[in-house]
Amino acid sequence: MLESFTEIATKLEINWVLLSAGLQFASWGLFSLLLSEILRDVYHALCHKVAWLGKLHNKHHTAYRRDLSIVSLKAYQESQLYHDTLESGILVAALLVIALVFQQPGLWLGVVYNVIFLSAAYLRYSQGTIDTDYNHKPGPLDTAPSVWLVNRSYHWRHHFDDVNAYYSGVFSLVDKVLGTALSLKGKTIAITGASGALGQALTAELLKHNAKVVALTTNPDKLPTDNGAKVIPWQLGNEAELKASLEKVDILIINHGVNVYGDRTPQGINSSYEINTFSALRLMDIFIATVTGPQAKATKEIWVNTSEAEVNPAFSPLYELSKRTLGDLVTLKRLNGNCVIRKLILGPFKSQLNPYGVMSAPQVARAILFLAQRDFRNIIVTINPVTYLLFPVKEVSSWLYYRIFSKTIQN
Ligand SMILES: [Zn+2]
Ligand SMILES: [Zn+2]
Repeated sequence: MLESFTEIATKLEINWVLLSAGLQFASWGLFSLLLSEILRDVYHALCHKVAWLGKLHNKHHTAYRRDLSIVSLKAYQESQLYHDTLESGILVAALLVIALVFQQPGLWLGVVYNVIFLSAAYLRYSQGTIDTDYNHKPGPLDTAPSVWLVNRSYHWRHHFDDVNAYYSGVFSLVDKVLGTALSLKGKTIAITGASGALGQALTAELLKHNAKVVALTTNPDKLPTDNGAKVIPWQLGNEAELKASLEKVDILIINHGVNVYGDRTPQGINSSYEINTFSALRLMDIFIATVTGPQAKATKEIWVNTSEAEVNPAFSPLYELSKRTLGDLVTLKRLNGNCVIRKLILGPFKSQLNPYGVMSAPQVARAILFLAQRDFRNIIVTINPVTYLLFPVKEVSSWLYYRIFSKTIQN
């Protein structure tokens, strides 16, 4: 009896040792794969900062046309040799050193992973086959850039939107850390509610990031004449007249709104929904209709200021009701995947709508752009910790519910 207990204990001990060794191998292995991708992206970013590295890397950039078809077989083969093979070779060497120094068997997974990349790149060079990797497959970009894993639209922007951004190759982690997951440089960005406190602050910040700003305002008289933005006046209900202007816009920021505070008259209800919800919705639809052409999905975006009232009281029932409806409709429309749609979930800041705001509009504008450049799709800027907890729960549950019970009817 005593012997069998000892045997069981020994077997359990052996199993435990095997299990922990397996877990250790797997975690070091996963770490080495992640490290490989981080090192690859850092090397890529360096190629765009260090001139002599850039010369070799540039072979990769000059090999592709705007539709990602290759310029010539020779250019493609040279890019495979001077960029892909070189990059994978450096990574094999780096991971080999790390595996030898730290003496962990799992780390050899990273070496094998990069040897596979190296062999594929060398085969593409030597055989001249144009069976390229997924990110460089030619043809129209039919999906919007993804958030965590790099897809074709994401990487296309590195080639043709801004070569000094979008460095990531597989995971977008390095771009998120560097703030290069969205470039504002040279983009045409239209903003409604441009004469308000946040509208003016965002205009000033966007200009600092070398964007071209189009101020869409129903109050052109309230705008300073020399704020650097092109002013386009519009009227509520006449959103369709902006179609031609929105064709040339990369990012539309819907930021106008009204707060009727305690008013509950029919007029108060009507203007809250008309301004905060329906005009915003009409603008979204008009802008989405301009997302045409083979590469439009990669760069066109809508940002909607739905406000913290989506999940918290704003002590103004109609403001909350109309903004919550807008927030829900944005969640619903995102399911169509027409283009990237970000929400701006903002806490109280000093403005005409809220003279008692705690944060300042320039602070909020800076924080919005900081998070947008890190590709946050839900940009929360508030001092209220409850919003950071409640909003994700509300957003995920609404998204799931709408995904199950709604669909786009294809013609
Ligand atoms: Zn590329
Ligand atoms: Zn590059």
